[in-house]
Amino acid sequence: MNPHDNAIKQLEQVAQLLTQQYQDEPRFSSIIDQLKKPQQFHQTELAVKLDNGKTKKFAAYRAQHNNARGPYKGGIRFHPQVTVEEVKALATWMTWKCAVTGIPYGGGKGGIVVDPSQLSQTELERLSRAYARWLAAEIGPWQDVPAPDVNTNSQIMAWMVDEYQQVGQSVSENPLATFTGKPLALGGSQGREEATGLGGVFVLEKLVKKLGYKRKKDVTIAIQGFGNVGYWFAKHADQLGYKVVAVSDSKGGVYVPTGLDPVKTLQCKQNKGKVSDCRCSRDHCDLENGQAVSNQQLLELEVDILVPAALENVITKTNAAKIKAKAILELANGPVTPEADQILAKQEVVLIPDVLANAGGVTTSYFEWVQNLQGYYWSRDEVVSKLKPLMEQAFETMWELKDKHQVDGRLATYMSAVQRVVDAMLLRGWS
Ligand code: GLU
Repeated sequence: MNPHDNAIKQLEQVAQLLTQQYQDEPRFSSIIDQLKKPQQFHQTELAVKLDNGKTKKFAAYRAQHNNARGPYKGGIRFHPQVTVEEVKALATWMTWKCAVTGIPYGGGKGGIVVDPSQLSQTELERLSRAYARWLAAEIGPWQDVPAPDVNTNSQIMAWMVDEYQQVGQSVSENPLATFTGKPLALGGSQGREEATGLGGVFVLEKLVKKLGYKRKKDVTIAIQGFGNVGYWFAKHADQLGYKVVAVSDSKGGVYVPTGLDPVKTLQCKQNKGKVSDCRCSRDHCDLENGQAVSNQQLLELEVDILVPAALENVITKTNAAKIKAKAILELANGPVTPEADQILAKQEVVLIPDVLANAGGVTTSYFEWVQNLQGYYWSRDEVVSKLKPLMEQAFETMWELKDKHQVDGRLATYMSAVQRVVDAMLLRGWS
């Protein structure tokens, strides 16, 4: 279950589908080969001083996959399970993701092997600054624009901006436009924090119409993961009238068949430390009905829409046959393996892939970057009104290709994304 192998397998499958279209282009197969690895891969060990005076080393990476369509773009993940292969896969998926909504970026991704919950705030700050210092020469508004990802947030981006500016990258490099997902008080954009979840809800709205549901309250949703993405998705879906029946965090989940209140559930999680102890309606958190479920059980619940919103490889050939949902909306990156894709397709589970379903985050990062470059800031309404049509258009393109070529949602999405990247590479004369 090497995520980079998965990314390569997906690319090979889509290249197969595109062969006919590029039959007169002799460079096609070498272009596809180039896309199987990042253009550049940076790695180091960051030595960081801990509060006890000792120094600890942390492995750190940045993959720059492809910049044919624009500067590399993608988040930085802090997680104990970060690996070289994972970072390469995530950078590859960023290249497709930016092409899906048509924003002018390539793909990149960074990571540090660390469990941030084991660090104090000052240690976390020193680690974040060390990362930005190390990478300063490789990033910039026209080169590579990092952002938050799993376990990183706007405060971490703020430290990185400050460090980047201090290490002598001239201010003309525009430090604010070098990172996105920043705090509002430091060049961030309205709407960025909720954007990945909200973008997912725009996709959900299109999907439930295509699936023929008449009433939103009949659509039940289970969400694996209750971090930034899972929470905002749940909140917006609930506000629109969908029935969120299950959520989970790394410690386990909760299933409330009558529907749970995401805002109350988050408050309860913050008090009790885990969502599995929370069964919350609008008014209180001690509902009689409902039960704690494991992450595995949550994935196998009988719901309409299953939303993996945590980490990769959670739906594999071992559990794919047990999925009962009618559709899967991937808000995590890479949660379904290629083997599982095939099993799900046989079961006629509709799959809306990560690079489409969670593209709202990076798309709003693009709006943030545009605002930083202009020095002119937009209202939340303006941001949302620009995000919605891009997500809807990307969904429509996917759906048309899915019907036309009789392929699953992932291959359909990849067909248009890979084509855009390949065309940019060919236009540049790469071979
Ligand atoms: N980390 C997010 C993603 O995987 C956002 C990336 C960005 O905004 O650059 O899409």
